Amino acid sequence: MQTLLSGSTIGILGGGQLARMTALKAAQLGFRVHVFCASADEPAVSVCAKHTLASFEDEAALKAFAKSVDVVTLEWENVPLKALDIIAQTTPVFPAASVLRVTQDRGLEKRFTREAGLGTAPFAIVTSAEELQKAADAIRLPAILKTTRMGYDGRGQIKIERKEDLTQAWDKLAAPQAILEGFVPFEKEIAVIVCRRADGAMALYPPVHTVQRNHILAEAYVPAGLTDEVEQEALAMAAQLATHFHLVGLLVVEMFVLEKPDAQGRHVLMNEMAPRPHNAGHWSLDACACSQFEMLVRAIAGLPLGSTVPHSRARMLNILGQDLGKSIGWLSDPKACLHLYGKKEPRNNRKMGHVTFLEGPWVEAL
Ligand code: AMP
Repeated sequence: MQTLLSGSTIGILGGGQLARMTALKAAQLGFRVHVFCASADEPAVSVCAKHTLASFEDEAALKAFAKSVDVVTLEWENVPLKALDIIAQTTPVFPAASVLRVTQDRGLEKRFTREAGLGTAPFAIVTSAEELQKAADAIRLPAILKTTRMGYDGRGQIKIERKEDLTQAWDKLAAPQAILEGFVPFEKEIAVIVCRRADGAMALYPPVHTVQRNHILAEAYVPAGLTDEVEQEALAMAAQLATHFHLVGLLVVEMFVLEKPDAQGRHVLMNEMAPRPHNAGHWSLDACACSQFEMLVRAIAGLPLGSTVPHSRARMLNILGQDLGKSIGWLSDPKACLHLYGKKEPRNNRKMGHVTFLEGPWVEAL
């Protein structure tokens, strides 16, 4: 495993807030960061030593970028696999294309999870209205119809309650392929972030209770208020998935905590995964000695992983365009740690920043 030292250059694909916060932590450890993104207005550009403005389809730009950096990571799981292959010809890329191939597709993601011996909602892949009818008979309604690819923040999803609505839902989704998932009666949603190095060393953050509003993550609470048994099951699931992927880098596993255990005695099902820093881990910037962003930098640079034990309980609130005006007020709150991403246009529902409230000592872990 290669160890990169201060002065080396880390390349990041994508220039959003996740890249920005990763770059700031990389700089703290003495690295230079070169970001590859589409526009100079993207949040990471202003905090990176170097940027390449090009599309992920631009082979010449990808090759030049790869040669100018020592290692590459990413902030977006839908980077085309071809772009990763081009970079990997000269430069290590973490996480590898093999991980992204799975996490870019909800169907493959669920199959992979089942192969690892873990639980998901019942599901079926469908490519026509007729297949959807059959799948609904097998899975039973209510269910959720989702595009297999490129869905996020609830886009490309339709909840179906009645058989009569199946055809209309299929037409509305207008995708060549979809996944029908049984509706999971969950008590709460949680996320576990795991970081893994090439030698198999792992660091797991405590589970986070996530609250969605309008399908967008709105708040995150740590600790998540789970029993020890459920917490251990959630951590084991994330560790198992990271190992099964031979992951190098960061993986967030979003999970449903069931109202009551399923027939196999499981309390937790995998919902979705992303091999990158995640909104559910932003609290770690202020409540842990080593945040998810720093942990990613350490893992891809072959450095020792840090501690994931929080020093404080935390509540994180996303700041959307419509909430930006409240930010100034939080600067006078001694518990609040404010992060703004430097985006110019505060559009409705656009993530402009976040604020983490430190809610007192992490007594649980003492
Ligand atoms: P996703 O993009 O798959 O994470 O879905 C967005 C949100 O929709 C989740 O955070 C859940 O609140 C809800 N959801 C998605 N799939 C299911 C399901 N199978 N059962 C119940 N709720 C779901």
